[in-house]
Amino acid sequence: MDGFISAATRFAPSPSGFLHLGHAYGALFSARQATAMGGTFLLRIEDIDLARCTQAYEQAIYEDLRWLGLTWPDPVLRQSDRFPVYHDFLHTLEEGGLTYPCFCTRREIRTEVANAPRAPHGPDGALYPGTCKHLDPMIAKDRIAAGQVHAIRLHMDRAAHMTGPLTFTDLDRGIITVVPESCGDIVLARKDVPTSYHLSVTVDDAFQQISCVTRGEDLLHATHIHRVLQTLLGFPTPVYRHHRLLLDSQGRRYAKRDKAITLQALRKAGKTPQDICQMVGEDTK
Ligand code: GLU
Repeated sequence: MDGFISAATRFAPSPSGFLHLGHAYGALFSARQATAMGGTFLLRIEDIDLARCTQAYEQAIYEDLRWLGLTWPDPVLRQSDRFPVYHDFLHTLEEGGLTYPCFCTRREIRTEVANAPRAPHGPDGALYPGTCKHLDPMIAKDRIAAGQVHAIRLHMDRAAHMTGPLTFTDLDRGIITVVPESCGDIVLARKDVPTSYHLSVTVDDAFQQISCVTRGEDLLHATHIHRVLQTLLGFPTPVYRHHRLLLDSQGRRYAKRDKAITLQALRKAGKTPQDICQMVGEDTK
């Protein structure tokens, strides 16, 4: 936790749907961790995907979390207000020769992977096969000048070479060694959005001085990426808690499509905040 003035955690939902029981658990987990550390619980709105995020969902987040009894300091950081900041950090990585433009469509990537049965895989499936990494820079420049849409990817080999070996601390799992090759050349700026989840989260966790990042264990692999980006950008390293994911009666993760378990629906059905705490488990360790 070196480099932090005080303790803070955050809950960082995307306003692309109503919060459900899984979110309630994540938010309560984060708030309890803040209390345990004698720190502050922050809320952050992760709305970089302007096509999917709405004002109405954002308002519902505030309403639902307040109803649950959570409080946080204002102003709430909204990622859509910070595109210029992400751009500057992207530029730093570009200047360091750590990025390249990628023109591939999803379909092209799928075909490329299908034709290379030994293509490296990560926890989420096949990694980007690196097609555009080998493009002649002059050709790439011409394609950009011609207005061809492209993403910006991290050149992970170079990045890992620059950072050297890295670890992070998960308070429940211990010290974890970063495995950059399990991440591949991740996207730093999407074709449709001038940043990415990985870049904006890393920048904002540092900006908001989050000393303990709490999130679901489905994002454990993302922490490897964030640790690399923190080092490249000179940010301090928080500690982490990756909590379990709540499952429904059929053993499936709660998803935004499950309308019945949104906090709004449960509230309308007469449930109280205490009922919700009980449903997600009193013990949030
Ligand atoms: N915005 C992400 C989500 O809603 C959470 C990201 C994080 O906690 O790092 O899944």
